[in-house]
Amino acid sequence: MFIPYGKQNINQQDIDTVIQVLQSDFLTQGPQVPLFEKTVAEHIGAEYALAVNSATSALHIACLALGLQKGDVLWTSPITFVASANCALYCGADVDFVDIDPQTYNLSVDALQKKLVQAKLENKLPKIVIPVHLCGQSCDMEKIHALSKEYGFHIIEDASHAIGGKYQSAYVGACKYSDITVFSFHPVKIVTTAEGGMALTNNATLAQKMDLLRSHGVTRNTALMNKETEGPWYYQQVELGFNYRMTELQAALGVSQMHRLTQFVGKRHIISNKYNEILKDLPIILPYQIPESYSGLHLYVIRLKLDELKASRKQVFEALRAKGIGVNVHYIPVHTQPYYENLGFKLGDFPVAEAYYDSAISLPMYPDLTDAQIQYVYESLKEVLV
Ligand SMILES: *Cc1c(COP(=O)(O)O)cnc(C)c1O
Repeated sequence: MFIPYGKQNINQQDIDTVIQVLQSDFLTQGPQVPLFEKTVAEHIGAEYALAVNSATSALHIACLALGLQKGDVLWTSPITFVASANCALYCGADVDFVDIDPQTYNLSVDALQKKLVQAKLENKLPKIVIPVHLCGQSCDMEKIHALSKEYGFHIIEDASHAIGGKYQSAYVGACKYSDITVFSFHPVKIVTTAEGGMALTNNATLAQKMDLLRSHGVTRNTALMNKETEGPWYYQQVELGFNYRMTELQAALGVSQMHRLTQFVGKRHIISNKYNEILKDLPIILPYQIPESYSGLHLYVIRLKLDELKASRKQVFEALRAKGIGVNVHYIPVHTQPYYENLGFKLGDFPVAEAYYDSAISLPMYPDLTDAQIQYVYESLKEVLV
């Protein structure tokens, strides 16, 4: 049997809910999307939530709403999925990266501060910084927010891994220290709508802009029109938007899944605690937990102590795969992707991220992982490592 690294949990209520929508009048643009948005916004504690067809779309319209354009620069972590950086390129802006913290693997606040000092001298300060809450553990948002006030940049939290997690006492997504937070509902993530994403904010103007941008830039709200309505049929395009809408089927699935969010994250913590206990004597580095964060625990990443091992990361990875364990690597540093190398980045630019990448392996982590499977992962790792 193959144990994947991540897997959705779908129950009968999820299935029934989606079937009910299929039998209803609206497959898109009906009541389910606003209900999903209300459900998430209330649970997380943010004023506004805008559902879209992916987190990638949410990142794109978040950047546009904050005015990112040609000539601007956006900074993010090199250890993320490519979408966290690509969103800047969609807007015609440039991307740069901030190296990671060696313990949390999140964007390093020290490296950010140093880079800001230098960028100020060169008059190249970023317009937006996107901290990515890797594996579900929040970045040090209070410090990043303080730097944003000092250096005048906006913050979009890429919380694709972190729904249900907390920073200090608030849920990630409450946007206390950011302009906008983005969630992903891809099936490997914590809550799923098959494909889907959401942008949360406490800023009414940003919410209104993102609402326009996700649906062609078209409005029927006369307050947003710049010439008089021509009749009851009238709509007006006031921005160049996209069709990034979420369907009713997806939103209904999302509402049903949200009932189990706390349970999902709780189960991930139980599994993580079991891994922490059972794996502690192996020649690996276990995930580090900062006290300010309750992780969403999308991923459980171990690092091999390569200097204590005969085998390479590749050999360990292949041996685990051969045993039916769907280990993975999160992530290949974005700046080493060929597309980014063509933009001028190269191996060596972000050494902490590169060292992390060389030794990282994501173990299976999802709510339905059984004790027997955890035991099997442990025994297989032990056999492969020692
Ligand atoms: C999954 C993911 C995304 C993209 O999410 P989609 O919903 O698939 O577009 C962006 N950033 C991070 C960190 C992710 O893990």
